Parts: sequence; structure tokens; C-alpha cells
Amino acid sequence: GAHDGPIPPDPRGAWPADATSVTGRSVTARHAIHVADLQAVADDEYPVGKRQALELGERTVLATPLLREGEPLGVDQAVIAIENVRLFNEIQEKSRQLEIASRHKSEFLANMSHELRTPLNAIIGFTRIVMRRSQEKLEPQQYDNLEKILASGQHLLALINSILDLSKIEAGRVEVNAGEVALPAVLEQCVRTVEPLVKPDAVHLVKEYDAALPPMYVDEEKLRQIVINLLSNAAKFTERGSVRLRAQASNGSVAIAVSDTGIGIPPDKLDVIFEEFEQADASSTRIYGGTGLGLAIARRLARLMGGDVTAESVLGSGSTFRLTLPVRYRAAA
Ligand code: ADP
Repeated sequence: GAHDGPIPPDPRGAWPADATSVTGRSVTARHAIHVADLQAVADDEYPVGKRQALELGERTVLATPLLREGEPLGVDQAVIAIENVRLFNEIQEKSRQLEIASRHKSEFLANMSHELRTPLNAIIGFTRIVMRRSQEKLEPQQYDNLEKILASGQHLLALINSILDLSKIEAGRVEVNAGEVALPAVLEQCVRTVEPLVKPDAVHLVKEYDAALPPMYVDEEKLRQIVINLLSNAAKFTERGSVRLRAQASNGSVAIAVSDTGIGIPPDKLDVIFEEFEQADASSTRIYGGTGLGLAIARRLARLMGGDVTAESVLGSGSTFRLTLPVRYRAAA
């Protein structure tokens, strides 16, 4: 027919309008051509196109002839766009794989920590029995050694429990069990739990609750775990002065602040301490014990309930940790 004759080459000479390139062939064939990997085609398939693809590092090419009433006017190439889509898909696939791997890690840690607790509880339990039953018969040195076994066992148990908590959250195995909660009553329980950790005489525990605290709809156990964690940190890191617990409500959210007059936190550590195993003082000469997991768990639990935990501090003067939570928990859609 009239349209089948050869089309004059591109005046710049770059694009022979024939079957030797993808664009050329799409024009002569008058339909779109998609080549997934132009560098991989046979040498005689698109000789000109392949050469250019190798030179320019192109792979995927989509060529669409621009036709008017069946007559080719030109050709539209979408090389770069397609390459970007391919890379984007590749990255998406990679991050999906990473997510799966990370979930496997969390699952493994959750199962492992659960299994480790059984023998460890036996070690702790039997150490206690021996200490109780044989204190008179043992040399003081041996009794001391048993105390060290017990202390190490308890530290290990605390670590394992924290890792279990953390990996359960990460594996998505932690659910929010919200119920109606009277906040002052829960805060009182937290205070009573932590009171023995506050240095007697040197540190005052002060409570300031807003008179008009609304009833909350929240996971009481998680709320308690977070507040106890913040209070026991404050007690641990404060040698004199006060530990102050405040609760306020405004605009549908509750702020529970724990302020202390303790050692404080250097500005460059304020964010880091919320990460797993991070402690402001990571040196081996560290005075204060701990696992470095408490705040990581507290923040994750708070976020799970639609809130957060944040920190402010002045090194040497004290710190304030603030838990904010919606008054009424609403499950994410
Ligand atoms: P742990 O207390 O078991 O080390 P956390 O995650 O609870 O772990 O805390 C991480 C670190 O944050 C602590 O080791 C400490 O350096 C710092 N920190 C937390 N709370 C306080 C506080 N109230 N005052 C000073 N430092 C704090």
C-alpha cells in the first residue's frame, strides 16, 4: 500500500527508520514495541538499537509511533521512565524481602526468649532454695557466690523478658486490650511499685494530678508498664531532690510527665537512649545497672496505643520524660 514505502531517515542521521532499532521498527511496523532488555537481544535483532543501549546503559525500551491517519509523524521513546519503574519495583521487592526477614528475626527471638526462661527460672529457683536451706552450713564466701549467681540470673531474666517484649511487639504479636481506666488509681499503683526504689530521705516523690482527669479508654497493663519504667529510671538516676509525677489532660489527650533532679542526659544522647541496648553511659565503668531496653519498649508500647514518649533534659540538673496518650484509644483502621 501507499504507506509501506521506506521512511526517510532522521535528518540527524541518528535513527534509521528501519528494523535495526526499536524506534525505527515501531515506525515501520506502525505499532508500539516494548523490549524488556535491549542489551540482551540477539545481535541481529536490533543491531543499531542494541549498540546504543550498550553505549548508554539503557535496557528497557518502549517505542510508540506517533501516527496521523496511519502516517507516521515521529516516535515517542520512554526509556528512562521505564528504567525508573523497573528500579522502583526492584526496590519495593527488596524492601518487602527485608520486611519478611526482619519478621523472621523477631519471631525467632520471641520463641527463643520464651524457651530460655524455663531453665533460667529453674536456676534462679534452686539457687534460692539452696541459699535458704543451707545458709548455716555454707562458708560465707560460698554464700556470697550464691548471691552472685542469683543476681546474674535475675539480670539475665530481666534481659530475656525485655527481648521477648520487644520482639513480640516487632513481630506484630502484641495487641492493645483497651478498657475503661481511672487514671489516678493506676498512677497510684505505679507509685507504690516504685516507692522502694526511691532513695529514702534524700529524694521526695511528688504527685500532681489534674483535678479533672477524664476516664481513659486504654490498655491498663501497657500504661502501667510505661509509667513504672519511667518512674524507676527517675528513681535510679536521682541521688537527691525529687521525682515528680504529673498528669494533665487537654484536647483529647493525656500527658503523664515524670521529672527528676537526677544526673540528666547529654543532648546528643537524648534520641539515642530510645534505641535498643542504648545507654547514655555505655562505658564499662558505668555506675547504674540496666539493660538499655526499657525506653525502647516504653516508646513502642506508647506508639502502639497512638501516643509517644519524649524526653527533655539538662545534664547535671535533671530530666523529664513525657508520655502522651489519646484519652480514648482507637484501633488503627
Ligand atoms: P536502662 O535504664 O535499663 O539502662 P532504659 O532504656 O530504661 O534502659 O534507659 C536507657 C538509658 O537512658 C539509661 O541507661 C540512661 O543512660 C538514660 N536514662 C533513662 N532515664 C533516665 C533518667 N531519668 N535520668 C538520666 N538518664 C536516664
